[in-house]
Amino acid sequence: MALLLALLLVLVPAAAAAPPNIVILFADDLGYGDLGVYGNPTIRTPHLDRMAVEGQKWTDFYVGASVCTPSRAALLTGRLPIRNGMMSAKNRVLFPDSLGGLPQEEVTIAEILKPLGYATMAIGKWHLGHLPQYLPTRQGFDAYFGIPYSNDMDKTPGAPRGPELWKHPKIEYFNVPLMRDEKIIERPADQTTITRRYTEEAVRFIRRHKGGPFFVYLAYNLPHVPLFRSPKFAGVSLRGLYGDVVEEIDWSVGRILDTLEEEGLARNTLVVFTSDNGPWLIFDEFGGSAGPLRGGKGSTWEGGMREPALFWWPGKVRPGTVHELGSTMDLLPTIAAITGAEAPKDRVLDGYDLSPVLFGKGKSPRKEMFYWRGDKLFAVRLGRYKAHFYTRSGYRHRQETAHEPPLLFDLGVDPGEQWDVAGEHPDVIEKIRKLAEEHKASIEPVKDQLLERSPEALTSRAASAKATGGLPLGGAR
Ligand code: MG
Repeated sequence: MALLLALLLVLVPAAAAAPPNIVILFADDLGYGDLGVYGNPTIRTPHLDRMAVEGQKWTDFYVGASVCTPSRAALLTGRLPIRNGMMSAKNRVLFPDSLGGLPQEEVTIAEILKPLGYATMAIGKWHLGHLPQYLPTRQGFDAYFGIPYSNDMDKTPGAPRGPELWKHPKIEYFNVPLMRDEKIIERPADQTTITRRYTEEAVRFIRRHKGGPFFVYLAYNLPHVPLFRSPKFAGVSLRGLYGDVVEEIDWSVGRILDTLEEEGLARNTLVVFTSDNGPWLIFDEFGGSAGPLRGGKGSTWEGGMREPALFWWPGKVRPGTVHELGSTMDLLPTIAAITGAEAPKDRVLDGYDLSPVLFGKGKSPRKEMFYWRGDKLFAVRLGRYKAHFYTRSGYRHRQETAHEPPLLFDLGVDPGEQWDVAGEHPDVIEKIRKLAEEHKASIEPVKDQLLERSPEALTSRAASAKATGGLPLGGAR
């Protein structure tokens, strides 16, 4: 008995100190208004709604950029993509013919967790470089299962022209590879079963590593157009095909939460759900909704960069709705703080530790948000006010509009950015102007990772663009 007690005394503190598991669930092009708990009237998301009710729902949570590649770089490194070349004036994202990727010297969330003994897996869309030296397995992940870039890339010559391409998409129109670790295992990837298979991979990985600690980064490649869902989800949503796709993602989230509970891991696992950028509005009902926010994917209006964000960790995250500022760039410092991992100290990080808010012990240290587009700072939020120095719609318009004085919106009362109050607050504008100048001075020039593309691949791409009539799916994203 004495021996048992002594053993317990040794074991209990060790168990209490075990670092938590981390699960990041990252949707693609899901808008601020696409979940039930964010007010969508027709898409049913009971599992995500449950995450919000049992955990925290953030109303003012931002991504680091309004399109895929730079947004993903921001999440994994805690840095604005302008600092590591993952944002470019010319190309907005990486393409199948791109030669660049997230530089090796960047430090990802997986890389800070590895020294603590975490098992790490990336599942889903990567989009930070498809060449071997840029794959997840070279950025701190033990394993990878997913597609290396967007699900609409690598269009085949037989793909139809016009809206048919996204209204009635077929797997064979998109020659997207599915990879395990560093090998292509299926091409074209069967996108109708992809969300289900990502989920099964995540569940398997969690079960295999239930002794912990583990880190799962599951980046769904949907509801990015073209939309696909399993036969089981065909026609289930009032919101049509787009709703079916989101409801399947919600099912996936439910499976993961259930697995954590079944394995007794829920009380030692932080689950985060958010999306990489706002809805792709040019696709009408095949894109999502930014709810009350203005604009969507590709723009620096709120609809492009403010996202649903849910934090779930029963017994640890204090349930409630948070109206303070947060960002995907805050995940790395927050995860470092709650696991004891070391965030890199030799470079500028753009993230903050949000754990005081998660645990109900303090306020968010984030007071500002910088909205970059390409190599230009378009807008800055400071507290409740946001100033736009430039505006431009997400797609189609070739030119930006410069604003002098900047447009100023009070997001506290006007999250839809409808009423310019610049005339009433010259003091606020001056403050934001100073902050913007200081911020820009902190940016050092680096190699543009999105710029270089291979000429041979460009030729076949040009042929493919011609075949599809140069429609938005072939355009710059
Ligand atoms: Mg996206």
